[in-house]
Amino acid sequence: MGNIENDKIWLSSPHMGGNELKYIHEAFDENWVAPLGPNVNEFELALELYLKSNVNIAALSSGTAALHLALIECGVGFGDEVICQSFTFSASANPIVYLGATPIFVDSEIDTWNICPNALEEAIVDRIKSGKTPKAIIAVHLYGMPFKVDKIMSIANRYNIPVIEDAAEALGSKFKNQFCGTFGKYGVLSFNGNKIITTSGGGALVCQTKEDKDFAVFLSTQARDKATHYQHSHIGYNYRMSNICAGIGRGQMEVLPDRINSRRTMMKFYLEIFNNYPGIKMQIEPSNLYYSNHWLSAIVINPEESKFTSEDLRLGLQKFNIESRPLWKPMHLQPVFINSPYYGTDISENLFNNGLCLPSGSNLNELQKERIGNKITDIINSF
Ligand SMILES: *Cc1c(COP(=O)(O)O)cnc(C)c1O
Repeated sequence: MGNIENDKIWLSSPHMGGNELKYIHEAFDENWVAPLGPNVNEFELALELYLKSNVNIAALSSGTAALHLALIECGVGFGDEVICQSFTFSASANPIVYLGATPIFVDSEIDTWNICPNALEEAIVDRIKSGKTPKAIIAVHLYGMPFKVDKIMSIANRYNIPVIEDAAEALGSKFKNQFCGTFGKYGVLSFNGNKIITTSGGGALVCQTKEDKDFAVFLSTQARDKATHYQHSHIGYNYRMSNICAGIGRGQMEVLPDRINSRRTMMKFYLEIFNNYPGIKMQIEPSNLYYSNHWLSAIVINPEESKFTSEDLRLGLQKFNIESRPLWKPMHLQPVFINSPYYGTDISENLFNNGLCLPSGSNLNELQKERIGNKITDIINSF
């Protein structure tokens, strides 16, 4: 046992439910130690039953792989343009470049921190004017908060551009009582180690049709044509989920509702603290149409009102071995994307400059929460 007073408190760490090892043992007992098998099928089924909406799900090796295959299924190729929310993790945008296409970045709005409908429409109109209709729109439910689904979908439909929903952080989040990941032509889930549930590493592509799912599975298993020998008429990928990882996923699906409750409780815990201080806003649901899994509790600070900066708070917490992290740095400000077009103003940039993600794990115990709460209060009061 470490010293409880100083044990590292992580932003978000894996939280097993109990049955994961049972499913892994089954895989060993039956020698399904491969990127296919009963756990993969059952994990996909559990996800489909959970998300309802008659979706078809392909379990893959990562969320990034799911995005890559979604773009391929949208027909994205060399020289094409794809619109992408700028305020996100780089994995949302990288697969555009894998395909030789150009990302067109779009700013956020302040209600959900996700892609801004006005800037999106401006971008679409301008790209069409300069000769290229964007092949897809990648919109992100950041930190679990649903983007403005109605507005974004209606703009996309008006211009007949497919939406890829990056729901990597938003499993269990809902808009108008429908699960995130089920609105777009494709939805992307991630089960990386820090996400709301994990398979150690993994992801899934949510498809509206069985044909789309079957094609994703085909591409993810090296694109083998139906023949006894190895024959290929497509470029394939090695992107299928392992049956061992899927065993972890099956166990995790059994506790997903608990995990969502815990994350939402963490958000309320912080809200109660920050309500006592000026200049600190949390990322909260703009109305009861939105339901966030609150994967990470995130705040944005106005340093003029609060008298301290997000970096002051981050460094203060770090001294007590408590991890916190700046919000995602927008893609249009990243050195690697410096030449990509951008539409919008400085909303995502301001969020980045003044924001912070706080420890949000579902496995934080009462003592740890008390420690976090006390330290935050001490730090704020010291300014
Ligand atoms: C985690 C994440 C991804 C990538 O998922 P991996 O499974 O890590 O490849 C994509 N987009 C967002 C917004 C993420 O947070």
